[in-house]
Amino acid sequence: MKSNSSEIHPEDRPRTTRLAPSPTGDLHLGNVRSLLLGWAIARRAGWRTVLRHEDLDQERSDEVGCEAVETSLKWLGIDWDGPALRQSDDLEPYRKAMARLAEQRLVFSSSLSRREIREAVGAPQGGGTVVFPPSLRPNDPAAFHFDDQESNYRLLVEPGFETIKDELRGERSFDPSKEVGDMIVWTKTGHPSYQLAVVVDDDRQGVTDVIRGDDLLSSAARQQRLRRTLHMKGDLRWWHLPLVHDEHGRRLAKRDGDAGILALRDAGVSADRVIGLIAAWSGLIPEPRDLPASAIPDLANEPAMRRLIDRESRIPCCFTEEDDRWLRKK
Ligand code: GLU
Repeated sequence: MKSNSSEIHPEDRPRTTRLAPSPTGDLHLGNVRSLLLGWAIARRAGWRTVLRHEDLDQERSDEVGCEAVETSLKWLGIDWDGPALRQSDDLEPYRKAMARLAEQRLVFSSSLSRREIREAVGAPQGGGTVVFPPSLRPNDPAAFHFDDQESNYRLLVEPGFETIKDELRGERSFDPSKEVGDMIVWTKTGHPSYQLAVVVDDDRQGVTDVIRGDDLLSSAARQQRLRRTLHMKGDLRWWHLPLVHDEHGRRLAKRDGDAGILALRDAGVSADRVIGLIAAWSGLIPEPRDLPASAIPDLANEPAMRRLIDRESRIPCCFTEEDDRWLRKK
């Protein structure tokens, strides 16, 4: 692993992608589809594939979760290169990134809760992203520092579009100042935020191509902004894949226990059956049939991936009861 990746332009690095699941429970069929297709795209092209456990959510992740991820991937036939990186093992790289931002006076501590921010900007209560506006920035220049106190730290996010180049969807532009405003980079639990950790890790793991679910499409712009702010060289290539839904049209989630990989394995379902279902969902084979993961790289070419995006932008992929019956059929 290169420790000084930020000095090497992504164009000059060996093409590398990453598998970056959060070890917060049994991986579900939706997670597995993104991981399988990402792995297949990379293996087809001969890229490095690294594994990263995004385990900074301490309440929901643990050692057992990381082991379960590795067990699931191995069982499915998805491999990776080199040792896995576990984010919680060492927070120093993230602290260093915070120090670089603090030197530029770009981060400030703010203890305002989501509710207080909503009230201050007159936004309706409820879910969704809360945009932190410039009006709530501290007036005191002394607040622009980082000393790892029990507080959230936010990054100054100035207006301006970030255009990300998605290899499958073309160029997409987002203005992070409108989407999130001053984003959280360090949390009061003493950990980097997801956005900061991903940017630091993609860089230190030498990642050139990020392949993942399209729920993170707008995050790509935030991550690109953070990369620029941290003076990391060049832009990454992005590949955002559509998510799998349940029969109610909701994204498959860990609450859908039936779609959990280890639960399926323990119910006697074979790995080849899981892979075959995902291949059929993704239009790589006409009908589901048992198929090993090793057959997928040959099938997952770019035209097939583009067809998948085109089809699923009209009709999302859905895990049906019929699929579940087929999986469990002896
Ligand atoms: N850990 C995230 C997830 O499992 C993925 C993060 C990423 O790919 O950037 O949803």
